[in-house]
Amino acid sequence: MQVSRNNLLFVLLFAGGIILPTAILSYLSFRNIQNEVYLAQKNFDENLSAFQNEVEDAIEKEQAKIYQETKAASLFLYEQPQGLLDFGHATEFKSVEGIEAIFLFNKGTLIYPDLSSRNFFKSPDFSSSVATPQSINLYQEETAGFKDSLSQRIYLAKRSKSLKPTSFFFETHDDQIQNLLGLIRFYYKQKNYDEALKLLSILENSPHQQGYLHADLTRAVNLLHFEILVKQRKHQEAQDYCLSVLVQFLEKQDIDDVSSSKFFFETAFTQILSFEKLAQDKREAFWNLRENFNRQLGYMDILHHHKDQFQEILNDVVSSKEGILYRNTDDATLFKMSYPYLSGDQVVIAKLDRNAYRTRLLNRLKTVTQSFKNIPFSITEKNDSLILGSIPKDAPIIGQHEISEALDWEFTLYEKDMQDIRKETRHRMFLMYGLMLFALITVIFGSFFMFRFITQERKLLAMKANFLSSVSHELKTPLTSIKMFAEMMARGRLQKAEKVQEYSTLIGKEASRLENLIGAILNYTRMEHGTGAFKWERLDFSICAKKVFDAVEDIGVEKGLTFYTHFEPNVFVMGDYTALYSLVQNLIDNAIKYTEAPGDITIDVKSEDDWIVFSVADTGIGIASSEQKNIFNDFYRVGDEMTRSTKGSGLGLATVKRVAETHKATISLVSKPGKGSTFTVKFKRAE
Ligand code: ADP
Repeated sequence: MQVSRNNLLFVLLFAGGIILPTAILSYLSFRNIQNEVYLAQKNFDENLSAFQNEVEDAIEKEQAKIYQETKAASLFLYEQPQGLLDFGHATEFKSVEGIEAIFLFNKGTLIYPDLSSRNFFKSPDFSSSVATPQSINLYQEETAGFKDSLSQRIYLAKRSKSLKPTSFFFETHDDQIQNLLGLIRFYYKQKNYDEALKLLSILENSPHQQGYLHADLTRAVNLLHFEILVKQRKHQEAQDYCLSVLVQFLEKQDIDDVSSSKFFFETAFTQILSFEKLAQDKREAFWNLRENFNRQLGYMDILHHHKDQFQEILNDVVSSKEGILYRNTDDATLFKMSYPYLSGDQVVIAKLDRNAYRTRLLNRLKTVTQSFKNIPFSITEKNDSLILGSIPKDAPIIGQHEISEALDWEFTLYEKDMQDIRKETRHRMFLMYGLMLFALITVIFGSFFMFRFITQERKLLAMKANFLSSVSHELKTPLTSIKMFAEMMARGRLQKAEKVQEYSTLIGKEASRLENLIGAILNYTRMEHGTGAFKWERLDFSICAKKVFDAVEDIGVEKGLTFYTHFEPNVFVMGDYTALYSLVQNLIDNAIKYTEAPGDITIDVKSEDDWIVFSVADTGIGIASSEQKNIFNDFYRVGDEMTRSTKGSGLGLATVKRVAETHKATISLVSKPGKGSTFTVKFKRAE
């Protein structure tokens, strides 16, 4: 009763403390999961505007960075002296990633690049933006050190007649010149340098009337002349020649031959720099000259190519607050930077290196878009080619606008499909459902096992209580008889000697019944405390079984039962004699106890391959199949009339099971109510 009250309390606590909260939590979580899709949608909407802002911000910041870098580079150029040789170290020139060329104007006048400011912009197109003539430091004779000597040399070269390069017109026809050039090349290949030079001087001293051809031809002639001097290892002369061509170039009236000149100067300067005997300071000066001159030539080339655009952007009025203006055409993107971005009358026009500029912006955008993976968007170029993101099929467009004025990029945001949102939240939902299911299953299983355990405990307690009462009853009955007979004998009331003998025999019988009962209890407790007390030996099972049979045969015979026995000799097993004895005894005892006369009991010990098989069969009351698995439990007794009228403790088969287990033997039972039972124990044969 106590136990069941505790049980009730336990059930209440369990239900109130675990099952109910778990159920409520599960219900709430289920509802939350239903909301998950709604939340995801809301989250998406919020993310959308954040994403849009961040994309725009990223572009703006990167562009602002480029403006800053361009400004720094232009200020550096502005502060530098404009002379070629005095133009600091070429390495200090600040290039900006994403910008191909920078042009500096002041009050509408080009001040960088500036090769020959006196002559470059004579063309009417540029008349407004031409720099006032400035002297180039190369010509200044006062400059110190090597530069001085180099300037001197240039100065001299300028006046020297012998090295004077082409500044003339040919009267001969192009073909003739080409023939002449072919001949010079032939001599050059034959290494007949003197002859080649002779022809070159004819060519150089004869003017030519066709300007554009003249430029290219002039540089070809110059290059050949220079090469021959190098081949003849006349390095000093080669240097002087190169400088004289430079002077001639700077004095020229137009810049049509920029590309061919660029090629000549680049080749010539590079070759000069490879001269072994070139002094270090000279080398530095030539290196500077090469870098700065070539860069400026390159910029001039750009200016020349896009002069219309430059003119237009120069004239454009900058209306934006930042002082930045773009002009984007198919072949070039320019931006103009002026007041208030720059101070005073300064204007910078920069030509974008579109690819590098694009890469800069793209890299910046990639980091932004990475943190908004779930938003469908695309960034496309003017020709609709995709730059970043993806264009989802049939998705309605939420918003579209241009980003980056320079590159004409279009930024598009698309509506997200509910299906997609569901798909994204599905795995999270699965996880939550899984967790809840797991919690519920655990609670249910836990409760189930807990109740089973409690019920078993209850049963065991009841059994033990039952056992104690039946054991004390069993002990009391023979004791009462012994006490009664002993008292009668003590009073001396028994006259006849037969009576005394009869009573003494009864006392003896009751005493041995007591002994048996105590033996069963002891046996059981011995088993319960494990095999530590066992004495393992190799023994003949038949001898053990025969001994038990001899001790109990009389009881069976007296009851009117017939025994059939077979004890095969030399059937050895490893075991504890006392334990095996009690196993055999319990099985034969039960057979006698639960068989009514007339009945048969068959005891058989035999060997089968590696096994020793011991069986006890009776024709008794049998055991219902529903009871068969229970009868081996501690204190278990079948609750029918027959069993109740038979004395017992419910420990016999429990002892048999334990002994078999400790001897690694198997027990099987075949039984039918009303027909009889056969218990079979199979032992491993001992070697
Ligand atoms: P008990 O002391 O009651 O005999 P056991 O553990 O030896 O306890 O047996 C448990 C129960 O199994 C018995 O109460 C009885 O109902 C049943 N039983 C055991 N052996 C037999 C048998 N040979 N024939 C019929 N019933 C049996």
